[in-house]
This record gives sequence, structure tokens and C-alpha cells, in this order.
Amino acid sequence: MQNLLDFDATSLTDWFAAQGEKPFRARQVLRWIHRFGVTDFEAMTDVAKSLRAKLATSACVQPPVPVRDNTSTDGTRKWLLDVGNNNAVETVFIPEATRGTLCISSQAGCALDCAFCSTGKQGFNRNLSAAEIIGQLWLANRMLGASPDGDRIVSNVVMMGMGEPLANFENVVSALNLMLDDNAYGLSRRRVTVSTSGIVPAMDRLRDACPVALAVSLHAPNDALRDELVPINKKYPLKELMAACQRYLERAPRDFVTFEYVMLDGVNDSLEHAHQLVALTRDVPCKFNLIPFNPFPNSGFGRSPAQQIRRFSQVLMDAGIVTTTRKTRGDDVDAACGQLAGQVVDKTRRTSKRTIPVTEVRS
Ligand code: SAH
Ligand code: SF4
Repeated sequence: MQNLLDFDATSLTDWFAAQGEKPFRARQVLRWIHRFGVTDFEAMTDVAKSLRAKLATSACVQPPVPVRDNTSTDGTRKWLLDVGNNNAVETVFIPEATRGTLCISSQAGCALDCAFCSTGKQGFNRNLSAAEIIGQLWLANRMLGASPDGDRIVSNVVMMGMGEPLANFENVVSALNLMLDDNAYGLSRRRVTVSTSGIVPAMDRLRDACPVALAVSLHAPNDALRDELVPINKKYPLKELMAACQRYLERAPRDFVTFEYVMLDGVNDSLEHAHQLVALTRDVPCKFNLIPFNPFPNSGFGRSPAQQIRRFSQVLMDAGIVTTTRKTRGDDVDAACGQLAGQVVDKTRRTSKRTIPVTEVRS
């Protein structure tokens, strides 16, 4: 059975063409699936009866299955999705006054092993399929009661859940294509953000294949510290990463990159670090999003005090860089960075991470 959620417009058109079906049939079916949320081919009333019958025997529309559904007191809603083989990923919906943001996962686990990340600590299980990625948006729309013609409940998508999206390139691009497709979700490129730890060649590929808004997980202002916190930095060091950001901006729908920066107490949060960041990013139009560290057991890290985050932020702002600090939302449902999945399916293969000695990173 072919799961039609795996197809974007181009691949569905090709699949139909191979069976002698016309391109407009693909558009019709896409609309039924993604706009109207229909999974039963019989209900696709403007599709020829013969095609409906054929689809019923060769295809299905199979979204991921939610095994938990929690709503925080602040309205943040979080689904835990069973993706088989004892693997689970999470999707988080964050309602705000003027927008609704869905945070989507791209992999079960992650191979990149950033020091402060609980997803990374689980190790890598597998890539999510295109169906499992776009299925998170499909499902959120159903669960939130979206109507095909009403206001969009999910107005923004960020690929900031579990996994490194650019390490699952083809499937992520397929899902992005559907997010942007007018026959599917019709989101603007500016409202879809891919967050990457900095896989430089894949950033160039994304720019060429499907340029959407870009967030880069920086987390350190120099190579010595970033090598420790974000190990992929050893392969693609900061100079290359900054150059890749500049290349990306040539085609990006927004004229800045968002740098994410997790605030780790005594590790990367000194004012000297902030000044280094200003120098590092001098030639890259950017905004900063400071993320207070979300603690998890045995992480070996602590969250920077609010006052230190304010001071750090002020240094960036004094240099003319727009800087926001992420609100810690959904704390009561652990709606942050791999925590819930970590509790349900404990795949920790390693014992607790060593703490990076503060003296070492400060010298
Ligand atoms: N793999 C991608 C996207 C997913 S993580 C990436 O690394 O960019 C989304 C953001 O949350 C990243 O900036 C990531 O570094 C950050 N993050 C991971 N663990 C965190 C934690 N425990 N506390 C705060 N932020 C965390
Ligand atoms: Fe992977 Fe991103 Fe976590 Fe790093 S921060 S381990 S890239 S999910």
C-alpha cells in the first residue's frame, strides 16, 4: 500500500502519470487529503469513481498515531506520536495572539549529539518518512479543528522538534513543498522555518531546492567551545558556517538568519562571549533568539540566571542586533526539546554526559 502522505505535488503527479492518470487528478487528491483532511477515497466526490476504486486497493492515507495529547495551562499543546518499533516523536502547538506555531520533528532521535540536548542523548533511531513529517501538520489541523476555508489555526511551522532536519533532506523537502503548496497548506515561505545545527552543504542544497526561513543553532561564539557543545562544528567550523549563512541569504525569503543560542550557566553566557558573537556575526544580517536551557536529568548543565540572560542580550542589542529571549512555555507538559519522548521511551544508551569543565571553556 502506498501512503499518499509520502507524496508532494510533483511525486504524486509522477505516480499518477505512471498509471495513466492526469496531473489535475493529483491536485484534486492533494486537496482532499491536506486541505479537507479526508483519508477515505470514497469521500473524494469529484474524483472519478474508477480512480477512487483503484486507489482503495493500491493506496492509503495514513498519518502518525498520537499516543499522548497534553495541553499546558498556557495553551501549549503537545502530542506524542508513535512511529513504530518503540519509537516516539513529539509535535508541539504554541498558540499566540497573532499566530499559531507548530513545532515539527524530523527524526526519531538525532545522531549529532549536541552536549545539552536530550534528543541527542537518545541517539539516532531513524529518519521520519515524508508522511510522518507532513503527517504532524495534517494531524494538528485535525486535532485543532481546522476548517478548509477558515482562518489558519497553524499559521507558522518551525522544524525545531526532534532531529536534525537537514540530515533527512529529501523527506523534509517533500514535507516543506506540501506546507507551501496552495493545494495543501499554502503557508508562505517566510512562515516556515528550518532550524539546523549547521550542516553546511545541506544548507546550500536547501537554498537551491526550497528556500524557507532559516534558523541556525549557534550556541557558541568560537570554534573551541562550539566543538564541545555542537560537535558537527568540527566538520563545519564557524567560518564556513557564517559563509553558508551569507550564501543562504541570497535566496532566502527573509533578509536575516535567526541564530539560536541556548543559555548555559557558566558555559557560554559570559559578556565576553556576547562580544565575541557580535564580532563573529558582523557580516551576517541576523537576529538572535536566546533560549534559556531546558534542564533534564543528568544533563550536566544549568540554566543561566535571568539577570545574566538580560545582560547578555543587552550586549547584542547595544551592537544593533535584534535579540529576543524565548519564553519558557508549556513547562507543565514538558513541551520542550525532546523531553516528553525521552520520558516515555527511554533510549538513553549512554550514561550521563560529562560536564564540560567551566575552567576549560573559559580559558
Ligand atoms: N536539530 C535542529 C533542530 C531541533 S532543536 C537544531 O539543532 O537546530 C531546536 C533548538 O532547541 C535548537 O537550537 C537546539 O539546539 C535547542 N535545544 C536542544 N536542547 C535544548 C535544551 N535542553 N534546552 C534549550 N534548547 C535546546
Ligand atoms: Fe540534534 Fe539539534 Fe539536538 Fe543537536 S540540538 S542533538 S542537532 S536535535
